[in-house]
Amino acid sequence: MRADTLSNPFAARQERLRAQLDTRKLSCLLVSNPLNIFYLTGFRGSAGIAILGDSDAVLWVDPRYTLQAHEQARDVTVLEERAELLKAVGRWLGRKRPRVVGYDDSYLTCAAFRRLRDYVSRGIRLKPAGGLVEGLRRVKDSLEIAQIRQAGHLTAAVFQEIRPQIRPGVRESDLAAEIEYRMRRAGADGAAFETIVASGVRSAWPHARASSKLLKKSELVILDLGAILNAYAADMTRTIHLGDPPRRVRSLYNAVLEAQRRAVEAVQAGERTCDVDRAARRVLRHSRLERFFTHSAGHGVGLEIHESPRVARGDKYRLEPGCVITVEPGVYLEGFGGIRIEDTVLVGEGQQEILTPAPKDNWFIE
Ligand code: ZN
Ligand code: ZN
Repeated sequence: MRADTLSNPFAARQERLRAQLDTRKLSCLLVSNPLNIFYLTGFRGSAGIAILGDSDAVLWVDPRYTLQAHEQARDVTVLEERAELLKAVGRWLGRKRPRVVGYDDSYLTCAAFRRLRDYVSRGIRLKPAGGLVEGLRRVKDSLEIAQIRQAGHLTAAVFQEIRPQIRPGVRESDLAAEIEYRMRRAGADGAAFETIVASGVRSAWPHARASSKLLKKSELVILDLGAILNAYAADMTRTIHLGDPPRRVRSLYNAVLEAQRRAVEAVQAGERTCDVDRAARRVLRHSRLERFFTHSAGHGVGLEIHESPRVARGDKYRLEPGCVITVEPGVYLEGFGGIRIEDTVLVGEGQQEILTPAPKDNWFIE
């Protein structure tokens, strides 16, 4: 790990982008997604447009963001624009006359694209290049890894703190509120997504929201939580049983735990993400539970809680050191309940690392 990557990773990220521009035969890239702008320049405002080319790196912001951009942005020229940003970009392109300008077709609205086309002079080609920066974001640098690890450890610590409060008579929504409050008190920017607390038959809904339902004895409770810290997210799920679990619940839990363990083992550089999914599915098939595992085994995590790569059947992406994905098998039995166990996992040079280290074996409350 080079010390300068930690203090200023943006030049290195821009270099990786420039290599991609070459392969894709783009003169420059127009970046409009604020997360991608943050990734490449460090500017955290919610509006702005950047252009990155072989020898240029320019960021246009409106006056609300001028001071912030000067403070945060690295390796980019900040320009303030009082009128429409796209118009300023068009003027700049007219002067520079690049041949092919890539734009983010999965982010720019149709209306914005039409305006851009009007502002850009003839002879300059606009070419869809959505997913280019997202592709770079799949492999995290040392600063990003440190930040996701911090978010993950904070998430695990908050879960451990509130664990004694998971007991009969407590409202799902109160637990969720307590989790999010404690995340902020521990220094998080906030929750990376709406915290899920789903108990009893509601735990069979993979994406249930926390409701006003009270927890009851002999119920399963799924808690899915993740802090966002320094712009980076973590994602973790634990399932708790209130009281001594009957045999059926024990065998379900152990099957999901084993599926998750095997899938985490498959998180290795060189493995395809579909192999991680398959490792989980194979264990559940063995226990005749595969049909209750109704979603994919995981997803990438970083600046977004769900980002590339997908970890599902048919996804051939080969993991590289620095990828961060979730591993989250679950089974959901209608009218009975559900069990899901999820960790955020880093693909290492050798061994993988669980970034959300909360225990999974003390899962019932006497
Ligand atoms: Zn989750
Ligand atoms: Zn997840």
